Parts: sequence; C-alpha cells; structure tokens
Amino acid sequence: MRQKKSEWMAQDKTEGDRGREKGMTPEQKIAEILKRLKKEYPEPRTALRFSTPFELLVATILSAQTTDVHVNKVTPGLFAKYRSVREYADAVIEALQKEMSSINFYRTKAKNIQAAAKVVQEKFGGEVPRNMEDLVSLPGVARKTANVLLNGAFGINEGIAVDTHVKRLADRLGLTEQGDPAKIERDLMAITPQREWGNLSHLLIFHGRRICTAKKPLHDRCVLSDICPSGNI
Ligand code: SF4
Repeated sequence: MRQKKSEWMAQDKTEGDRGREKGMTPEQKIAEILKRLKKEYPEPRTALRFSTPFELLVATILSAQTTDVHVNKVTPGLFAKYRSVREYADAVIEALQKEMSSINFYRTKAKNIQAAAKVVQEKFGGEVPRNMEDLVSLPGVARKTANVLLNGAFGINEGIAVDTHVKRLADRLGLTEQGDPAKIERDLMAITPQREWGNLSHLLIFHGRRICTAKKPLHDRCVLSDICPSGNI
C-alpha cells in the first residue's frame, strides 16, 4: 500500500535510512534524479520532429492526447504540403484537416493550428513569439505547449512543461503534494536550477514512458528506486 509523502518523510526523519529518502533535501534529490536520468537518457529533448518553430507548434498541438510516434508519422506529409505560417493561415480548412485525419480531435486541432497561424502571421509578422505571454495568447496554446515550444524551439527555460508523465512521476517521486499542473510546475521550479527546467521535463517523460509507466511501473529496473518513496505501489 502506498504511503502518503508526509508519512514517509516523517518516518525517514524518525527511523533513519530505510532505503528510501536518505535525508536528502528536495534540491539534492532533484540533482540526483537529474544526474541518474541523464545517464539513462543522454539526449533529453522532444521526440517530436520539426524543422521550424511553427512546425514544433503544429506538432505539439497535434500531440495532445496522442503519442509523439503517431504525430511523427503524420507530420512529414503535412510539413511537405504546408511550408510556411502563411500557408497554414490561408489553407482550405477541410484540406488541412484531411492531412491530419488519423489523429484524434483532428478537426479541432486543425482549426486551432489555422487560427494560431493567422495570429502569428498578422500579429507577430509570421514569427512564433519567444515569450510565454504572447505564446499563450495563441489559439490552442496553453502553458504546457508554450513551455515545450520555448524550450524546444528556442532553448528558453521559462517554465517546466507538466504533462501526464511529469505529473505522475513528480507525485510518485515525492516532489510535490499538488495535483494541479500549474502548482506542480511551481513546486518543481522551486527546487530545480532554471537551466535544467527543460531537461527535467524531458527526462521525466522518457522515464515515465519506459520505466515508471502509469499502469505497471517497473520498480525493479528503475535507477531511482532507492530514492523513490513509491517503489512498492
Ligand atoms: S521506483 Fe517505481 S514509482 Fe519510483 S520512479 Fe521508479 S518506477 Fe516510478
């Protein structure tokens, strides 16, 4: 039965080293997590394929509630057909939707992509903006997508993208008590050096996909098992 984090943290203080937390501060723990996961996943970056910031925006919008693998199968044809922000903005919506029709919610996603393209074209001169405030003003772009874009396209760490994997691992690893992504992001930012914000998100996503899966986490194969309070879930 899984313990509440407050319970195991209290036990650590009173019972000493039980093979779990080993008295680390949250900052020391995150440093250790980063160090170990970087060895496992030496290239922490988005798995989405793109060659321009707007293509990453398109791919990220398409990736909501589907896999990056699926998106990467669709985007080569899409990117070959629509080669600029203006072409997305001027596209016949039914034709744009057809190019992405194997992806869930493709009608809404296509509309958001076109609406975002129009705003990027008309308000930002065809250039994807490089700051959070302007990015979240685009249709279909919330804070998570903006973080992916800032880090992936421009190397800017303005926040930490919290998707379903980051949310689950932050909880299991005892890095937050929160359930709301904005609050989880705030907690992670508070204990992680800013230069590592993008890396942390990618590393937790990789680890969440391969080892710490939602249904059957592979504790026995996990390099974090001795510093994770959830190894017995
Ligand atoms: S020990 Fe288990 S719960 Fe903790 S991070 Fe590893 S796989 Fe996930």
